Amino acid sequence: MQIKALKFGGSSLADAEQFKKVANIVKAEESRRYVVVSAPGKRFDGDTKITDMLYEAYSIADAGEDMTDLFAKIRGRFESIITGLGLDLDLSKDFDKIFSAFHHHPGRDYAASRGEYLNGKIFAAYIGYDFIDPAKCIFFKENGTFDAERTNEVLSAVLAEHERAVLPGFYGSMPNGTVKTFSRGGSDITGSIVARAVNADLYENWTDVSGFLMADPRVVHNPKPIDEITYRELRELSYMGAGVLHEDAIFPVRAAGISINIRNTNRPEDRGTMIVPHSEYYNYETVITGIAGKKGLSVINIEKDMMNSEIGFGRKVLEVLEEHNVSFEHLPSGIDTMGVVISDAELAGKDEAIVHDIKKAVSPDHISVDGGLALIAVVGRGMISAKGTAGRVFRAIAAKGVNIRMIDQGSSEINIIIGVDESDYLRAIEAIYEEFVK
Ligand code: ASP
Repeated sequence: MQIKALKFGGSSLADAEQFKKVANIVKAEESRRYVVVSAPGKRFDGDTKITDMLYEAYSIADAGEDMTDLFAKIRGRFESIITGLGLDLDLSKDFDKIFSAFHHHPGRDYAASRGEYLNGKIFAAYIGYDFIDPAKCIFFKENGTFDAERTNEVLSAVLAEHERAVLPGFYGSMPNGTVKTFSRGGSDITGSIVARAVNADLYENWTDVSGFLMADPRVVHNPKPIDEITYRELRELSYMGAGVLHEDAIFPVRAAGISINIRNTNRPEDRGTMIVPHSEYYNYETVITGIAGKKGLSVINIEKDMMNSEIGFGRKVLEVLEEHNVSFEHLPSGIDTMGVVISDAELAGKDEAIVHDIKKAVSPDHISVDGGLALIAVVGRGMISAKGTAGRVFRAIAAKGVNIRMIDQGSSEINIIIGVDESDYLRAIEAIYEEFVK
């Protein structure tokens, strides 16, 4: 029998009606055996996620103040799910235990993780699957990073004993047994870890959109959905995936060669987007797979005659950045010029000191920091075989009167990165989309 691991996000499990949709989806296929759940998310615009309520309750308790009312609200949301499902399930003991634990400084992570924990218990009871607490089988190392090896060993063994199970997402435990969470949105990672541990045929990630779109719908009107994208392309478009899938969720399944299918709980009839390890096929009509971009970047421009023959020049520049604990995004270079593209958030407040240190390290003829840069990534595995793609990108942008400040092409030939003024960002993306898709 095929095995599928599934993950349902917070909006898919925000109330009893959503729980019913999720149960129907799980029951629709025998192979849907391992289910990871998030905490209840927003039911409507302006609503608050349970995770955020838990963080707040914990801060109040931690400050020695009274969080009884807020805790009652949190409890009320879970209880309305239980009642709405007509379930005979009493979680009073859990609520009492959590309430009292909050007063003994168990840590923010423990507090936040209770949303997933309680939701997992309710969903397991509703669907009749076993409940597994990830604190016993998902592990972090002493330094706080995820312990993939140990987890995979223990989790595979645990899951092999359960034909069907529900696991709360988002957390595991430290070597001393205390609860630790992944970063926000981390249930996606748990889903991926579970898929790897059971060697699943597919990891279905159910959310509230029908997969990825070829461009940001706030920039392009009604962009086309992406049917299939490779892991590599998704990495190149990582600015775009934000908000749909946690960046770190791809690593466990990618290593195991398992595909991810992004699906919509509210429109289960949609096929969604398949994220695959490799693909022979590409969309011949559009050639490109997607366009993504971001604003808020600066470039440090460095010029020096004969730079190309000066051994160690690049290393010395990058060493300065390392000393300032700054990571860079791109390194476009010319024969006597080198550019370092850095996000403004990374550079904030450090630019003068960095320029000073680069001057000291490599004595450039000229150095300046220019802000207001936006980057646009045009990505597609089809670009390797379709000739003239770069020409089409540049012509489309030029036709709209947009000046290109920087060009970079990754060595894999599946992306072209273009730097433009932030004020030209929208126009440039629209121009590229129109050229290839419309
Ligand atoms: N509930 C957590 C959050 O809001 C984790 C998740 O939903 O994936 O970030």
